[in-house]
Amino acid sequence: MTSLPNVKKPCAQCPFRKDTLKGWLGSERMTEILEQQSFVCHKKQHLQCAGHMLINGDKNDFVRLAGRLNIELELTGKELVFDTQKECIEHHEF
Ligand code: SF4
Repeated sequence: MTSLPNVKKPCAQCPFRKDTLKGWLGSERMTEILEQQSFVCHKKQHLQCAGHMLINGDKNDFVRLAGRLNIELELTGKELVFDTQKECIEHHEF
């Protein structure tokens, strides 16, 4: 089966997780990251981040591309990430 180069589940250090360190990145940086059309994490070079796809859904280019190609991203762990961008940004506020 064809698959795309993406992380399948939010990693332990993922900044989009609800259990991530409060005040870690700051609200400005987190806003910037969330506004990006896709996100490749420095920890997982060349792999599209699971957390960004889960929180942004169809706003993430990679998710839309997979949909157009009819490729299943096999993402799990949606319950681990923030439900909304707003909650995530507030959590990261210094
Ligand atoms: S690739 Fe994404 S899911 Fe994995 S650690 Fe980095 S930010 Fe988190």
